[in-house]
Amino acid sequence: QKYVEEQRKRKKLFNEVQEAKGNIRVFCRCRPLSKKEQSIGYATVVDFDGAKDGELAILNGGSNKKIFKFDRVYTPKDDQVDVFVDASPMATSVLDGYNVCIFAYGQTGTGKTFTMEGPEQNRGVNYRTLEKLFQIAQERSDTFTYDLSVSVLEVYNEQIRDLLDTSPTSKKLEIKQASEGLHHVPGVVEAKVENTKQVWEVLRAGSNARAVGSNNVNEHSSRSHCMLSIMVKSKNLMNGECTKSKLWLVDLAGSERLAKTDVQGERLKEAQNINRSLSALGDVISALANKSSHIPYRNSKLTHLLQDSLGGDSKTLMFVQISPSEHDLGETLSSLNFASRVRGVELAPPRRQI
Ligand code: ADP
Repeated sequence: QKYVEEQRKRKKLFNEVQEAKGNIRVFCRCRPLSKKEQSIGYATVVDFDGAKDGELAILNGGSNKKIFKFDRVYTPKDDQVDVFVDASPMATSVLDGYNVCIFAYGQTGTGKTFTMEGPEQNRGVNYRTLEKLFQIAQERSDTFTYDLSVSVLEVYNEQIRDLLDTSPTSKKLEIKQASEGLHHVPGVVEAKVENTKQVWEVLRAGSNARAVGSNNVNEHSSRSHCMLSIMVKSKNLMNGECTKSKLWLVDLAGSERLAKTDVQGERLKEAQNINRSLSALGDVISALANKSSHIPYRNSKLTHLLQDSLGGDSKTLMFVQISPSEHDLGETLSSLNFASRVRGVELAPPRRQI
């Protein structure tokens, strides 16, 4: 009973907050300057003076500053634990029955995989979120039972690949909508997980499979979206009520624009598909923000898959990842502009002091 009451309160609070602020949160994370950047002597163009209040200034020449405001700003000193403290309420929401999507957006090399996956000894949002789901499920075990299953997909060139499927023949995977509403991909492996050890095994199998069949793992992963989906089935032991909710954890393809002269053949097709899916994501979010009657989910596999977890009463958290280096200034501004569009807030530049 205690949890039902807590859940009711959280729902009320969430609805109030949502009305006031919308249901998309944007966190900005800046990685440290790499050793190589330091040795070349690249300057830092990010000023974190306002970071506590969610503000970040980009120094774009002379005394020009462009200010961006987000729900959180992480400096290179903030670690995986600091980041997860702010992301962890999303885990509670999933077990409360909301569909949730957490995704990392940004240029290749800015820390998307670091934030979502993280190195083994310093794990990121994916693992920590699943760990938290088990922890909350345990705390609520006198009132609820939860079944969790994980799928690991990759979307590359508008094709879905099942990274947990070990069968030698690859199936053609299509997105369908189940009768009770949630979208799914029939035939995809859904690995039932009961503890964090099993989660870790599934995530590792997914990562290993991602590397298979590509000559250059880093290049391949920067051009494909890696998508974990966690399906949660809950049963309330008091009243027998069952609910289903879905969590998406997504490491997007790199958002960088390619120099026109570099792009031909297969690379051109890849670049167009990445552009198409990332701009489709932006279009869906804009349409949601404008309360459009038509939300163009079907313009890309990415948005079609995420459909249940973007919009409606679902909750979305975006990490916009940036580089501090002057060398990446153009891409950094482009990512921050995209993220501001998502959040719907952009501050005017500060007035010059006279
Ligand atoms: P992306 O997935 O965006 O291509 P990566 O996650 O592979 O980028 O990060 C690029 C490099 O920067 C990696 O070597 C990673 O370890 C390092 N890195 C990224 N973010 C951080 C961070 N916050 N702290 C320390 N190192 C980081």
